[in-house]
Amino acid sequence: MADYLICGGTSYVPEDGNTGAQLFSTGEGLTYHDFIILPGFIDFTAEEVDLTSALTKKISLKAPLVSSPMDTVTESEMAVAMALCGGIGIIHHNCSPETQAQEVMKVKKYKHGFIRDPVCLTPHHRVSDVFDVKKSHGFGGIPITEDGKMGTRLLGIVTSRDIDFLEPNSDKLLSEIMTPFDDLVTAPAGVSLDKANEILQRSKKGKLPITNEHGELVALIARTDLKKSRNFPNASYDANNQLLVGAAIGTRETDKHRLELLVNAGVDVVVLDSSQGNSIYQINLIRYIKNTYPELQIVGGNVVTAAQAKNLIDAGVDGLRVGMGSGSICITQEVMAVGRPQATAVYKVAEYARRFGVPVMADGGIASVGHIIKALALGASTVMMGSMLAGTSEAPGEYFFSNGVRLKKYRGMGSLEAMDRKDTQGAAADRYFHGEGDRIKVAQGVSGSIVDKGSILRFLPYLVCGIQHGCQDIGAKSCSMLRSMMYAGELKFEKRTVSAQREGNVHSLFNYEKRLF
Ligand code: IMP
Repeated sequence: MADYLICGGTSYVPEDGNTGAQLFSTGEGLTYHDFIILPGFIDFTAEEVDLTSALTKKISLKAPLVSSPMDTVTESEMAVAMALCGGIGIIHHNCSPETQAQEVMKVKKYKHGFIRDPVCLTPHHRVSDVFDVKKSHGFGGIPITEDGKMGTRLLGIVTSRDIDFLEPNSDKLLSEIMTPFDDLVTAPAGVSLDKANEILQRSKKGKLPITNEHGELVALIARTDLKKSRNFPNASYDANNQLLVGAAIGTRETDKHRLELLVNAGVDVVVLDSSQGNSIYQINLIRYIKNTYPELQIVGGNVVTAAQAKNLIDAGVDGLRVGMGSGSICITQEVMAVGRPQATAVYKVAEYARRFGVPVMADGGIASVGHIIKALALGASTVMMGSMLAGTSEAPGEYFFSNGVRLKKYRGMGSLEAMDRKDTQGAAADRYFHGEGDRIKVAQGVSGSIVDKGSILRFLPYLVCGIQHGCQDIGAKSCSMLRSMMYAGELKFEKRTVSAQREGNVHSLFNYEKRLF
């Protein structure tokens, strides 16, 4: 007799894999490495996968990607790039409230293709100053304004052609060599990018200054930018067509002043930045914000359990940030003995928060596209990243070389180095210490470096495309379908043994090169 069963044609499929609920029912804490998702059925192209996802109750993004409020990750340049690619950046608060509000304003005022803060000089500057600017900023066309700032009367422009035959240390006045205002081609404030580009092309010049009715310089367009200018169909915009931006704040009394400046600057969402968010300080602040700025969206956190989430949801948060101890620069679990493996944290909090319509952001420990897909499959609506985005040209800080490798600094906000940063009003330390009286700082993070990753504008499209391909393999045509498949028990997972994890990585090669895109 045959030792196999014949079970009525092909309609019979044996149970295989575990549902999300089964995977997390054992009481063990799991990381993204500890499990894998089983493939599903494909009847659509990867390009068709819709990654629209909720950041908060009222804000949704076309790409579920958020940059972390860390001082080596998100200032305005990163936030602009994140928003252009469909995600959002959260401006860090390890700086004065005024500086942070200014960074928010730069994002809100950003208009693709228009340079809003070009370096300007006055007619009284010298040729040597132009060479200095060229050396530090790498470009040659400099507007000359009345007092060397934007917003004052445009008097001329100095381009590389004007200084080509002059010595770098020449003390000739710029008034003698600049192309004067009357000979310039300019465009009026309010001009559309298309129209401005047309004028620039016709003029055959390298730069097109935009001036208002008083002849004051309000923006600049560069031919070189024009050449690389692209469309960003998924960009994250508010109702006024301005890019979306978030900002982090602490939970001290003084943060109310910071918040006021951020709101005035047009911030769309604030992230309450505490490593352990389930505190009376955060709950009181959430209530205060909801009373004072009812339209402002609040992401509370960080939390890793349903009990923590409950208090913040009850207080009125619009989103939750999940993670404690999983960040790449983090030593919280080692030092505090508190935290939770990230996959379990995301699943447990998301499973609870969805009952109240509160979206969850999986924060920390994302080291690959696969981790993003896993976080979304466990119920997160968005992922927040630090190390994945650090080392890009849009991350704050200068590149440096070590053993011939081009690097940028990346550090934990709980590292002593970040907490000791001057002129921050102790903002970084706030994230980790609740009482005002904490005097000895106990580091919860380290400071390190990350290899140059090039521009975010190339990296994020790779992430987006990778997520779409992962969803396609799973058989989920959208992020929301991915979540509903998981909660319906249709999405199947399997735990990975240590050898399964080894097998799932590159192995058995003498050497290899890992290029991702
Ligand atoms: P990554 O994406 O794995 O690099 O983790 C980034 C996340 O780590 C941030 O969004 C924060 O939640 C968290 N984080 C940032 N600085 C520190 C720190 O100094 N100690 C612990 N966690 C940190």
